[in-house]
Amino acid sequence: MYGLFADAHTHIPPCSGELACVSACFPCDWQKLAGFCDLPIKKSYGIHPKAFDSCAGAGRVEVKAAVMELDSYLAGADAVGEIGLDKKARLSPELQKALFEWQLDLASERKLPVVVHSSGRPGETYDILKRWRMGGAGERNRRFLLHAAKFSAELARSFQLLGAYFSFGLRELKLESGAACAASVSDDSLMVESDSTSRAGSLAEAINVLAEIRAVGAECVARITHRNFLRFYGRENSGNLALNGCE
Ligand SMILES: [Zn+2]
Repeated sequence: MYGLFADAHTHIPPCSGELACVSACFPCDWQKLAGFCDLPIKKSYGIHPKAFDSCAGAGRVEVKAAVMELDSYLAGADAVGEIGLDKKARLSPELQKALFEWQLDLASERKLPVVVHSSGRPGETYDILKRWRMGGAGERNRRFLLHAAKFSAELARSFQLLGAYFSFGLRELKLESGAACAASVSDDSLMVESDSTSRAGSLAEAINVLAEIRAVGAECVARITHRNFLRFYGRENSGNLALNGCE
């Protein structure tokens, strides 16, 4: 155990005091997360592209109404997410894009970081994030994390040029595409996540696998991912921790 776990993306609050960002990305979960105060977790609210899968025929009006309701939760938020695009979602591609962009706009208005879900539509995800990043208001106010990252090394580099952070769980690291992506990104952009799988064990394992992939010590990966968590989710430029020879 390294004592420095920082879970960049999960849906279940941790049992102990480790750092974690808990994401409520279906409207029915927002209230419950807002009421959680047992531990000092980071809270992320958003509308997942699959959030309307059970509402047959959800259109622009319903989607826009949900976005307006989301805004009322963001005063107490640490991030917006997970939001993005999903090839398997029932919402039309056009409406998914609108939903993603409306939420990116809310995040920049509130100066909140964004947790991005990208499944099967990486090129369109890139185009939307590029437009958003170019939209002004300062880079610090438009930062984003690509969770469950498994992009090609080439696309990962392009995302990196936009200032992306990347988080990896065991699920991705066991895939060739996830391992290649994890090998290609910089120390400054690296995080780990459980995405709600059994947390402590899975984060420790993810850190060990990442250390192997990147040919560094596991303790260094733990310190770096912990520091990046603070930097990404911090309101100010926090996370300037000494890394004791890891960099
Ligand atoms: Zn998730």
